[in-house]
Amino acid sequence: MKKIGFIGLGIMGKPMAKNLIKRGFSLVVHDIVRGPVKELVHLGAQEASSAQEVSRNSEVVITILPTSAEVKEVYFKEDGVLVGFGDRGGIIIDMSTIEPMVSQELAAVASKEKIEALDAPVSGGEIGAIDGTLTIMVGGKENIFNECKGIFEAMGKNIFFCGPIGSGEVAKIVNNMAAAICMQATCESMILGIKAGVKPNILQEIMSKSSAQNWSMNLYMPKKAFKGDFEPGFMVDLMYKDLGLAQSLSSFFKVPIVMGSVARQVFEIARAAGKGRKDFSAILTTLEEITGVKARLE
Ligand code: NAD
Repeated sequence: MKKIGFIGLGIMGKPMAKNLIKRGFSLVVHDIVRGPVKELVHLGAQEASSAQEVSRNSEVVITILPTSAEVKEVYFKEDGVLVGFGDRGGIIIDMSTIEPMVSQELAAVASKEKIEALDAPVSGGEIGAIDGTLTIMVGGKENIFNECKGIFEAMGKNIFFCGPIGSGEVAKIVNNMAAAICMQATCESMILGIKAGVKPNILQEIMSKSSAQNWSMNLYMPKKAFKGDFEPGFMVDLMYKDLGLAQSLSSFFKVPIVMGSVARQVFEIARAAGKGRKDFSAILTTLEEITGVKARLE
């Protein structure tokens, strides 16, 4: 079994790293926040004080960081991941949701150092990360994907090879654009129905079994929104970032995304209201505030 370095122990990374340990992988971990590092060390992981120390002590490095900026920093900086592999080479797997062009740039630079790269963003949220049931979308060389399949299977259930480097990111970005649009559609229909006199649980039961069914309606409403729980989860800021990634793809390929652009503005409203670090379902609260009704179980 390959020794794995893991950088980024946030909402997603921490449970994913825990699942790798559960499956018997040895881990070297790093994060700029101490708490989750200590938690992983308690479970048997080795602590590294820098990104470079992570790759110096592992064969495969996994990262799951907020944006392209942190990914570039962690790999390219002087005491970064690429330097730490030295002449040995290795494999890097970036599981963050970032620009496909950055995944391609990273792979191009890495290949000069005998390092193979995969982009492997995930879907399924914190619950999927904890349960090890994530959907994982992988781009890169197919033989490297096959070599790493056991690693992915420790963290996810539905694992897809999408094509050349950056393809995983493309799949993830369009998925999240659809998820953002569905969340707003779900919130609008719930609030309209409640204001017009039907109870939230009745609306949710009907719509989750009818043509309006989607992930936000079927899972998010009953599990979080109905309980008034808007803690992340998946932050408004991160969904806003993903809709920006969709917008860049749309401009580059000259493909209009009307609903995707509107959805980005909805998340901009939530950010302006100070909800950037709330769960992305918190866009519901904006509608609740302006209409005076709440989607809660009584
Ligand atoms: P998060 O903010 O909870 O976690 C990011 C972690 O990276 C934090 O622990 C932070 O301290 C660490 N970090 C930041 N900069 C660092 C650096 N320079 N060196 C080392 N560590 C650093 O975010 P998250 O929700 O876990 O999301 C991570 C990525 O996964 C994002 O790209 C997001 O879009 C994607 N994603 C999130 C979810 C979700 O439901 N939360 C679902 C699918 C995909």
